[in-house]
Amino acid sequence: VGWWDHVAPAAKDPINGVTEAFLADPSPFKINLGVGAYRDDKGRPVVLQCVREAEAKIAGSEFLESISASVSTKMVEESVKLVYGKDSDVVKEGRSAGVQALSGTGACRLFAEFQRRFHPESHIYFPDPTWSNHHNIWRDAQIPERTYHYYDPDSKSLDFAALMDDIKNAPDSSFFLFHPSAHNPTGVDPTEEQWREISYQFKVKGHFPFFDMAYQGFASGDLDKDAQAIRIFLEDEHLIGCAQSYAKSMGLYGHRVGCLSILCVDSKQAAAIRSQIQQIARAMYGSPPVHGILLVETILSDPNLKSLWIDEVKRTTLRQNLEKLGSSLNWEHITNQVGS
Ligand code: PMP
Repeated sequence: VGWWDHVAPAAKDPINGVTEAFLADPSPFKINLGVGAYRDDKGRPVVLQCVREAEAKIAGSEFLESISASVSTKMVEESVKLVYGKDSDVVKEGRSAGVQALSGTGACRLFAEFQRRFHPESHIYFPDPTWSNHHNIWRDAQIPERTYHYYDPDSKSLDFAALMDDIKNAPDSSFFLFHPSAHNPTGVDPTEEQWREISYQFKVKGHFPFFDMAYQGFASGDLDKDAQAIRIFLEDEHLIGCAQSYAKSMGLYGHRVGCLSILCVDSKQAAAIRSQIQQIARAMYGSPPVHGILLVETILSDPNLKSLWIDEVKRTTLRQNLEKLGSSLNWEHITNQVGS
């Protein structure tokens, strides 16, 4: 009696609120702009062909054995190659500490916790605006947030001058979160030249860049191109952190497959950092569910499935098909604009 009398309902999540409003709306023309998920004409989730084929390949696998948090899986190796490039030095030298995470959210949460343990006095700088859950994730890890200028509503574009000022004025060695492509919610990304300037200024200030990569392949249709910001920071030899999600890029929302990676000075440091993140994960949820990890692992390590996936990610395919089907409408917006 009385244990929970002081508990009031939590504030509604702004994104889930959109879905609730959608479900409650009787209009036959309604469209759900809440969670950005692949849908067919009937509004049902779309299962990619590469996922269907991977499902068939792994049918009958032993799912009962959980993947021990201490085992570095093929999924992590392949994920790291996707962001940093398969021929990058960090991959060859084993300088990345990567762990499976519960999708992009879980990867961010693990990083925030890691940040608090090893830099307890630090802050996190978010773009203004940012994905609403970033605020919750770092708040729950007890890392105070600050914001940097990003979007200028008047010009509907990046406020690059103000962004650079904020980077320069932040205390040296600050943590910054970036969306490497398809910024959510604005769809506005820095250009290649602007990323170079940002990376240069990060060197000057000794800031730490954390990239939340939730939509690799969705901005340009090309996985490498969408990782361009990260590759630029790599060229400048930054040690960076990255959260990856397969929710959107493979349409695996419910499976919660993601990866957190942190670049290190050498493989010894990578082993230490990996063990610390695994320890954090162990206390939070033990180990991640295996099924989704096996799906991603199967797709990324089978050349045929991987190229099928790459084709499916390309939104240009959609535009080409629409044009092939004889649509006379202008579909350029699909390839020109950054959808997130
Ligand atoms: N980061 C950003 C910027 C996002 O938009 C999302 C998904 N909406 C995520 C992370 C995480 O999504 P998930 O946990 O489903 O991978």
